[in-house]
Amino acid sequence: MDSKTRLREVDVLIVGAGPAGATAALNLPPTRTVALTDLDSSSRPRIGESLPPAARRLFNDMGLWESFQSQGHSPCYGNRSVWGSAQPIETDFLRDPDGHGWHIDRARFDLWLRGIAVDRGAIFLSPGRLNSIEWDGRSWRAKAGTDEGDIELIARVVIDAGGRASPVARSLGARRKLADKLVCSWVSGKARPIHRSAGFTYVEAAEDGWWYAAPLAGGRRVLAFHTDSDLPTARAVADPKKLLERAATSDELGAVLAESGFVLEHSGFSAAHSAILQPFAGPAWFAAGDAACSFDPLSSQGLLNALFTGLAAAEAADRHLAGAEDAFLEYSETVNQVYAVYQQHLFHWYGSEVRWSDKPFWQRRHV
Ligand SMILES: Cc1cc2nc3c(=O)[nH]c(=O)nc-3n(C[C@H](O)[C@H](O)[C@H](O)COP(=O)(O)OP(=O)(O)OC[C@H]3O[C@@H](n4cnc5c(N)ncnc54)[C@H](O)[C@@H]3O)c2cc1C
Repeated sequence: MDSKTRLREVDVLIVGAGPAGATAALNLPPTRTVALTDLDSSSRPRIGESLPPAARRLFNDMGLWESFQSQGHSPCYGNRSVWGSAQPIETDFLRDPDGHGWHIDRARFDLWLRGIAVDRGAIFLSPGRLNSIEWDGRSWRAKAGTDEGDIELIARVVIDAGGRASPVARSLGARRKLADKLVCSWVSGKARPIHRSAGFTYVEAAEDGWWYAAPLAGGRRVLAFHTDSDLPTARAVADPKKLLERAATSDELGAVLAESGFVLEHSGFSAAHSAILQPFAGPAWFAAGDAACSFDPLSSQGLLNALFTGLAAAEAADRHLAGAEDAFLEYSETVNQVYAVYQQHLFHWYGSEVRWSDKPFWQRRHV
């Protein structure tokens, strides 16, 4: 270590301060000391705003329910879908014991969780790029670059919450097992509030993929198309203008775009496949959130899983620090169960759309 490199010693190092990393970080103090690092100091515009009703239980478990409510995210009352037939169907959350879900302001949500982690005592290094990490037989020794110079971090446990890149686990030799090639092209922008689909998530199946649309905070709206990266449509919808032209040919989406006077602001193209990391935990390390397993956005389960596994990884790290050598095995069993149930549901959802069973996108999902 040169004389300019600072040194910090903590119980747990968490790499990635998205929903999974921040959730793990806020559940460890005051019993355990935590350093949380992220490449980004702010939260960039990103897709992923439908939060299912079951999140309420996790907020309650973590003592965050009242604070979450005070954030004023918009309620989501259910889904409107054109799936399995050309007839739109509305499924509401009226009978859901957890009540309604939400369309969250994603940037605000991510910063809120980070803020709680810091308020509870986590050290937040941002921007903090992890340059290297190794196990010296007793502790992890990591080097990270920050705006204030390099820092060396010594920790007894590391949690990889770096999203789909799984940056720590992959550097340790773990590999992600991809189940499909799903990608998502999306646009968001200004849109007047309209009565049609107000407070509902909209999903529509198409010949070579499926649409998603939802209202966003601040009089805005998101629209996305999901298809496989190796199908010609993936290239066609990568251009935001072409995506909007294609959306306009759908009766429902065309009407939503026209009535709301949609004005394009942001766009993006991202991986959206299902994947599981192998392995996603070991003695003294755990992967949480998308770093451990990532979900098809059709499930709206990614954020819930980030909160759930962030909390579970914090509990497992705490058990490990208290001397439980099998903490990573218990954690692995829990995450494996979550992923197995998710796969069954996904097969069922895609199986309920049979209008294009001869087309590659659907054929691949019906076997
Ligand atoms: C198209 C699409 C639509 C989606 N829609 C929904 C939805 O409607 N509802 C839902 O629940 N879920 C949705 N999701 C999934 C959801 O967004 C993710 O599951 C969720 O963001 C996972 O949280 P995370 O904390 O695990 O990872 P992320 O949110 O990806 O956070 C990872 C963090 O790690 C940081 N990082 C990465 N590498 C490093 C490094 N080397 N060093 C330091 N920091 C690093 C990143 O900057 C980032 O802040 C969607 C996903 C996609 C792709």
